[in-house]
Amino acid sequence: MREKKTPEKKDKAGTSDGMFIDRAYIEGLLEEAKGADERAIGGYLDKAENFQGLNHREIAALLVSERPEHLRRILDIAGRIKRHIYGNRIVMFAPLYVSDYCVNRCAYCSFNSGHAFGRRRLTLDEVREEVTILEMMGHKRLALEAGENDHECSIEYILDCIKAIYGLKFENGAIRRVNVNIAATTTENYQKLKEAGIGTYILFQETYHEPTYSRVHPAGPKKDFAWHLNAFDRAQKGGIDDVGGGVLFGLADPRFEVLGLMLHNEHLEAKFGTGFHTISVPRLCPAQGMNIGDFPNLVDDAAFEKIVAVIRLAVPFTGMILSTRENRAMRKKLLQAGISQLSAGSSTEVGGYAKREQRARGNPQFLVNDERNAMTIISELMEDGYIPSFCTACYRNGRTGDRFMSLAKSGKIGNVCLPNALMTLSEYSMDYGDEIFREKAAAIIDQEIPHIADERIRRRTLENVKRIRGSGERDFFV
Ligand code: SF4
Ligand code: SF4
Repeated sequence: MREKKTPEKKDKAGTSDGMFIDRAYIEGLLEEAKGADERAIGGYLDKAENFQGLNHREIAALLVSERPEHLRRILDIAGRIKRHIYGNRIVMFAPLYVSDYCVNRCAYCSFNSGHAFGRRRLTLDEVREEVTILEMMGHKRLALEAGENDHECSIEYILDCIKAIYGLKFENGAIRRVNVNIAATTTENYQKLKEAGIGTYILFQETYHEPTYSRVHPAGPKKDFAWHLNAFDRAQKGGIDDVGGGVLFGLADPRFEVLGLMLHNEHLEAKFGTGFHTISVPRLCPAQGMNIGDFPNLVDDAAFEKIVAVIRLAVPFTGMILSTRENRAMRKKLLQAGISQLSAGSSTEVGGYAKREQRARGNPQFLVNDERNAMTIISELMEDGYIPSFCTACYRNGRTGDRFMSLAKSGKIGNVCLPNALMTLSEYSMDYGDEIFREKAAAIIDQEIPHIADERIRRRTLENVKRIRGSGERDFFV
């Protein structure tokens, strides 16, 4: 049931609930940015290069500049920030769609209520079957996804799914972290999700531009801009301190969206002490029942790469997530521009993993542009010099919310990310790889272990990798 709307309250930042996105302010910033001079922009880039992030005016100036030399420097600095803070590690995950029943009419989504197709909700046995397939691919971190329909897909059903997933134990371990991407809900329901042990609660604002938001959300509870916008406030009140934001690039002016994301992030920081744990950067792509030509703000590849890079400069310590919406070539570019988490081997359809095994096709939420299997993507990442990581350690060690963010902002998160990446890659290679893959992974792991800065952790990692390879022990993390 919908939570009662209470009178607006002021937060620490002095803004009212739902009022922290000020359209005139953002438009004013973008207008003013047209006058930013060369010297000023050079100073903003120097600041970003020193991992100091960027304020609104500085972000606007970089977004508005069309000078090739600025773009080159933005991409160069984004790559350097990425390497310095995240090293060459890429955290892997997969989506799990459990229900495509939806009462909303989002113009960009094939699950929208105006689209007629045979909808379904997985039974708990089917959930277990999908998870078994995902585990056979080596995944340890899932993002549970569902449309909004309280009747067909209640919070109790979602809780049952989470319980079923965490309850599965396989020869090679288990799913260790379930992130959840379901519709904006009540504080009480967020409390239930917290108690069920979810990792991050993910919700995309889709667009921070309210007139566009109203246009693309003509019906259903999601059409309430403020209800959707304040979902993370309710999630935080419900005890969920890792929240992941995002917009669907292509709905409104992407520069407006980046500034909207920043204002939202700052609102959460001011009010709860922690901003976004992650930012996702989905880009509008074709879906059944929609005409891509209806969207006048589509973002081309070059503009998208710049947007990802500017976000990397603006919030250097926030993880950035990319899905299989992007094709292989684009994913490669965006990894260099700042992406730190990738999905692999994904299906965006309810029951899609089992169907894929049976070579059947249904109605995916959107069309995937990278259909290669997880092992192929992971091998290719290694060939490109990355370390695929299956780490879920922070959540399991209670490093969430401000505990996580203070470690991330100290620049020392790599002290735990690197050993965890190496130990989980070692596990993955032993459990899922063939001999060639194992050799490739072993070479990377042996080469990287000496780079672990803390001597005690370095020795422990070396010992644990030996145990993973030799005696088949699993699930080490720091
Ligand atoms: Fe429903 Fe989400 Fe699709 Fe909107 S985006 S129609 S809420 S599943
Ligand atoms: Fe993510 Fe924490 Fe693992 Fe690093 S150590 S990869 S931040 S879960």
